[in-house]
Amino acid sequence: MKVLISGATGFIGQTLLKSLLQNEHQVHAVVRSVNDRRLDAKVTQVTTETLVQIDEEFDIFINLAGENIAAQPWTKKRKQALFDSRVALTNKIQKSLQHRPKRIISMSAVGYYGVARNGIFDEETPPREGFSHDLCLAWENAAKAFQDADINTHLTIFRLGVVLGKGGALKKMRLPFLLGMGGPIADGKQWFPWVHIDDVVGAITAAMSDDSYQGTFNLVAPEVVQQKQFAKYYAASLNRPAFMPTPKWLLNLIFGEMASLLTEGPKITCHKLENKGFSFQFGQLERALQDIEAD
Ligand code: NDP
Repeated sequence: MKVLISGATGFIGQTLLKSLLQNEHQVHAVVRSVNDRRLDAKVTQVTTETLVQIDEEFDIFINLAGENIAAQPWTKKRKQALFDSRVALTNKIQKSLQHRPKRIISMSAVGYYGVARNGIFDEETPPREGFSHDLCLAWENAAKAFQDADINTHLTIFRLGVVLGKGGALKKMRLPFLLGMGGPIADGKQWFPWVHIDDVVGAITAAMSDDSYQGTFNLVAPEVVQQKQFAKYYAASLNRPAFMPTPKWLLNLIFGEMASLLTEGPKITCHKLENKGFSFQFGQLERALQDIEAD
């Protein structure tokens, strides 16, 4: 298949790209500037400026790009960058393409459901308010604009939980946990929706060829855990203790509004994905973490 991808240099993008190339798909990647050495030579690199000159008919556009939501405090300027790198970029790619791809697979996040602790959220549950909700909603709407322009476009949106693998969030948490400084955040009772990177690649791969992946799906593992349970399993996978709590007031002081990413967490179900037959390789957190830390 001819695949166009944004965010190919990121944690998910790099893992997905390996799988796409192994399966002999032809890949074009939208990058910030061409000759990005992080990408395999088999990948054709384009920018949003040069994309308009490409007369390629892509079968699929996989939309991953976005400035990292947890990298910097949410100042007004940073919020704008988080929006622009998702919403404006998706809009720009749509407008630059000479031919509309038959299929769009676009990421979103469980942040769509807003700042919440109570209740169980499936894809139809009304979301709560919050910046993460506003951002995800606008990003999903930008992806839906492909379908609005052509009703025959096949659209899949995945609302991701925290993706666990050798990069991403775990890479940042590893050192404190190795130093024995990991533990419950606030009271640790907030939910920790997670998914193994292999299942993210698996779900995207399935959606590339299966028409039943139409619409929006929570992409979180079946086992729902609280943050304190995650801390316990993660520390155990590193043979470390996990009793050092981080108080909520300190996180609020350091991170401001962004602290809600750590101190809040909605309970999310993946029943819609499971009911349509998607089988998770890593349904249980303890085994997922053992797999990631195994080598
Ligand atoms: P990364 O932060 O690892 O990678 C982000 C990618 O987006 C990089 O390729 C980056 O390019 C690209 N990018 C960022 N800003 C721009 C921009 N302005 N123009 C062009 N490209 C840009 O993210 P992940 O791979 O972890 O995640 C992929 C997507 O999934 C993200 O949008 C993220 O919000 C979402 N997601 C991820 C979760 C996770 O736990 N990993 C959870 C929920 C959602 P460059 O390398 O040049 O910076």
